[in-house]
Amino acid sequence: MLGLMQDWPLLVHKILDHAALYHGDREVVTRSVEGPIHRTNYREIRRRAARTASALEKIGVRFGDRVATLGSNTWRHLEAWYGIAGMGAVYHTLNPRLFPDQIVYIANHAEDRVLFFDPTFAALVSEIAPRLTTVKHFVALSGTGSAHVIAYEAFIANGDEDYSWKTFDEHTACGLCYTSGTTGIPKGVLYSHRSNVLHAFMASQPDAMALRNADTVMPVAPMYHANAWAIAFIAPMTGARLVMPGPKLDGASIYELLETERVTVTAAVPTVWLSLLHYLEETGKELPHLKRVLIGGSACPRAIIERFETRYDVDVVHAWGMTEMSPLGTLGSLTAAASELSREEQIAHKLKQGHPLFGVEMKIVDDSDRELPRNGEAFGRLKVRGPAVAKGYFRGEGQDAFDDSGWFDTGDVATLGADGYMTITDRAKDVIKSGGEWISSIEIENIAVGHNAVAEAAVIGIPHPKWDERPLLIVVLKPGQTITSAELLQYLEGKIAKWWMPDDAIFVNEIPHTATGKIQKTVLRERYGKRNPG
Ligand code: AMP
Repeated sequence: MLGLMQDWPLLVHKILDHAALYHGDREVVTRSVEGPIHRTNYREIRRRAARTASALEKIGVRFGDRVATLGSNTWRHLEAWYGIAGMGAVYHTLNPRLFPDQIVYIANHAEDRVLFFDPTFAALVSEIAPRLTTVKHFVALSGTGSAHVIAYEAFIANGDEDYSWKTFDEHTACGLCYTSGTTGIPKGVLYSHRSNVLHAFMASQPDAMALRNADTVMPVAPMYHANAWAIAFIAPMTGARLVMPGPKLDGASIYELLETERVTVTAAVPTVWLSLLHYLEETGKELPHLKRVLIGGSACPRAIIERFETRYDVDVVHAWGMTEMSPLGTLGSLTAAASELSREEQIAHKLKQGHPLFGVEMKIVDDSDRELPRNGEAFGRLKVRGPAVAKGYFRGEGQDAFDDSGWFDTGDVATLGADGYMTITDRAKDVIKSGGEWISSIEIENIAVGHNAVAEAAVIGIPHPKWDERPLLIVVLKPGQTITSAELLQYLEGKIAKWWMPDDAIFVNEIPHTATGKIQKTVLRERYGKRNPG
């Protein structure tokens, strides 16, 4: 017997309808690409998104077509997203930090029909335009047009404000985002309307993002990095005031918005918070309005958690996720049991990647795909499944990551605790195997950056004739700091198992990062992996 409840399709444009009707006056503030602050609200965004949808139809964009965006977090990018989704096309976020060749490959692979872009990327767009085989229309999100480029304002002026959203099956494709992938070719994750809406419900829970109408939220995590971690959906869903930081993501610029716009909740990768904390240290400024900061994308070092929590009284929620998971998987808010712990123990808990949202199933397996115990000690490959997890990549690539029971192999290695907390120890391809046992590079890195002189640390395995591999610690020092490798290794003593101790610590000017801010260990292994074993 079926239930007798309504079949109300979960479509993302319904979120914006709700926001326009019930939270229409709530502000959406942007530091524009040109610099000045721009203010609008959800009612206006809804109105202009309808124009975008209509204008797209008028130039011939059809149901299921891909429409690319190459832009920072701004109100126009948001309007474009909802307009594209509301007419049944697919927003496709391109990451401008990728190499031009990668962007060309991705846009051609996706067969994008239209490209919306920030003028900041005009030079990049004109460089790649001749090689974009399917893009027929270029729309500049601000500024004026030119012979081959339509200005966004002129583009939407041609659209109809009374445009009615399309209604269709909630499983319809809504968004496309290619994984940054530290190796291999980028693969497309194709979100559906249903997965986006369900993920927004999941991610807005009190032990997750906990967004409320009274909050002001600033997604520093870009819209092109896995849906700005759902904030572009959760903020209008709850009517939270939204602050879009635009292209300037340095410590001083972020601070200015946190302060002047009284931001209460924000989210970004650890490197953004390192530069904010550095700016605060230099200037002696405070964070009087900020209540909660979501940190994910790569492991959050202890020093960041401690600084936010003990010096600035800001609650840190360490999160783990993947583009393939929409992206949130686990969040490190304190469970009832963890809330009873001492401050020191709570911080240790927050170093873990957190406990799963409802809707995310997890298990760890060994090399033969046998499930390993949830005892906080066994570590194995982390597999996940759920309604906001990909079941395949666009055009069927990389299918070996998905098994017949619906489990997706994350490529991460983790432990699962009996208390529900998950800890990532490494990317599978970065694990260090020494004497047949695994060493967690992430754990050593976390401890190393706790040293006052250290700005950033990476640990890689280097070949060793006896032990197979041994860890090498690679460090960038803070400006003006000096320390010897012996001193640094001594600092690690007692904090890690003896056999985890890196054979050496070396100092470099820079550690290379991917387009989503992750340490590029492949490059480090190429550069430093051939050293003589110690
Ligand atoms: P992306 O799809 O670009 O967001 O990358 C996802 C990958 O980033 C995951 O599979 C992890 O390897 C890594 N990652 C994300 N969040 C964390 C975290 N909190 N700690 C450690 N690694 C993380």
